Amino acid sequence: VLAGRTKAIIGAVTALAVVATVSTWIAEPPRPTPATLGVFVLLFLFFLAAERISVPLSWRGQRITASFTEPVVLATLFWLPGTTLVLAAALARLASAAIERRPSHKTLFNASQIALAMSAGLLVFQVAPVARIAAAALGTIAFTVVVDSATVLVVGSVEHASWRRALRERFLRVAFIEMVFGLSVGLAIVGLGTVHPLAPLVLAPLLWIMLRHARLQAKLLRESDLHRRLAREQRRLIGIQDDQLIAEGILEACHDILQVGRARLTLAGDQWTRTWDPVPEDAPPEMGVALMGVSGLAEGRLEIWRRPGKPRFEKEEEGLLLQLAAQTETALANAKTLREANAQRALLARQERLSTLGQLVAGVAHEVNNPLTYLRGNLELALLDMEDLRARAASPPDAAQSAEMERQITVALQGANRIGEIVKSLRAVARQRPSTEREQVHLNKLVEDIATVLSAGLPDNVQLTVVPDPKDPWMLVHPTDLHQVLLNLAKNGLEAMVEMPEGELTLRVRDEGAWCSIEVEDTGPGIPPEVQDKLFTPFFTTKGTAGTGLGLAIVHGILKDVGGSIRFETSPKGTKFVVALPRTR
Ligand code: ADP
Ligand code: MG
Repeated sequence: VLAGRTKAIIGAVTALAVVATVSTWIAEPPRPTPATLGVFVLLFLFFLAAERISVPLSWRGQRITASFTEPVVLATLFWLPGTTLVLAAALARLASAAIERRPSHKTLFNASQIALAMSAGLLVFQVAPVARIAAAALGTIAFTVVVDSATVLVVGSVEHASWRRALRERFLRVAFIEMVFGLSVGLAIVGLGTVHPLAPLVLAPLLWIMLRHARLQAKLLRESDLHRRLAREQRRLIGIQDDQLIAEGILEACHDILQVGRARLTLAGDQWTRTWDPVPEDAPPEMGVALMGVSGLAEGRLEIWRRPGKPRFEKEEEGLLLQLAAQTETALANAKTLREANAQRALLARQERLSTLGQLVAGVAHEVNNPLTYLRGNLELALLDMEDLRARAASPPDAAQSAEMERQITVALQGANRIGEIVKSLRAVARQRPSTEREQVHLNKLVEDIATVLSAGLPDNVQLTVVPDPKDPWMLVHPTDLHQVLLNLAKNGLEAMVEMPEGELTLRVRDEGAWCSIEVEDTGPGIPPEVQDKLFTPFFTTKGTAGTGLGLAIVHGILKDVGGSIRFETSPKGTKFVVALPRTR
């Protein structure tokens, strides 16, 4: 990645730094006596504490984290054994970095600062000869290099996937810049400082550049962090079908990204609010964005309140809120599409299954019908023959036996006739019957007719209600087909309420413009979830021998023919079947 020359420079400077460090150690070798060890431990703990209470300063709205370690090192370096002090500070920084996984941008500022500040401090006090100042500058750089590379090895490999990459990114880039910067500044100060006491003033623009640099970097990091959070949020919302979950996710994102005290999302009739900080109940929202109603979605609003004691929201927050609102709109629209697609798929699967079954049933009915015809014909002939035989019987026992056989054949014939009935129903299910002519049918009238038919055999516990539509809609349909649909549905409703002390069956007509619907609603026990899938399947019944399981299958077959549809809503308090019929023009 790096050019050969850059590598050479890095190598040379690093070697220099190491030599400088070692030379300061030789000049003042560390002697691990119990006293120095005690001092060392105390210093270490002290610096660790100083590291942990680094204060987040705010400068023109940007956060700069300043640590206490450097100023303390600087202020005490002249009076305490330098090696112990520097070592303790370095270890403290390492430990602190390991504890909090300090992001690299924080030390960039601080480490360069040491080099500068030390050089400046030495210069201002004018206490040291040039050689010692240079050694101090180099020592400081060595401090940075050693601490930074060790930090990379300890923390960087955790932060990044591989320590090699971490080393390259963190050490070679950051520490190298710091090193060169600190070295040149230190030497410049040494050179200038010996010339004139006002020379440190040259530091002013440098300091300004550094502050600006730190500020820009902080801003950059903050923005990339925000980007990451926004993107993460967007990904989290992919594939969610539930509006409630989306709302909760968005409110959480408001808190995470905008650090709000309270956030609220309003959608048509629903409202979700979350409060994180003590914002007064009646405080008006400080910023809000309207949500557009995308593709048939209800319009809404996303609103936020600032945390008490936080600065007012500005343009940046408005931009972020707009982004979050856009994400909400997209997520809601996607959820709606997903829900519709799933419902459509389920419907198609059901229709597919039923039409396959219908074809099968039609085939079987046809096959059964042929042998049934000659079975019945022959049974009828046999019956006639038996009657003849009985009339001509020679003895009473013969006559009795003939009568018995006649009875047996009659029963067999009844069975054959019953099979014939079932085959007819099967054909109705599969719509193999030629349909009658379409007629203009007024739905209010139709429903009242059905009510009349039903009221004849209505059980005592059930009350029948008809709710006509004031627009009195009519349609071009086969009246007998519709009779059959409604009778089947009503019969099911009545059967569902058999064991109830009291029940109500409601037939309701609704004109819905392009569609008309007829609802059949009962107050029965509802349809259990495990039954709901199989409802329209021929022969599916929960009524044992009392049911045929063909009612709803026939209803479905008829509605498929006329382009109508059927759906149901059910709960333990009752069931409502809704038949929707397209308006013929
Ligand atoms: P059958 O009435 O002969 O059982 P259907 O096809 O008409 O056949 O109905 C199938 C099944 O659907 C019924 O056995 C019953 O379990 C269920 N069902 C239909 N309508 C209702 C209803 N209104 N309330 C409760 N269950 C119902
Ligand atoms: Mg039925």
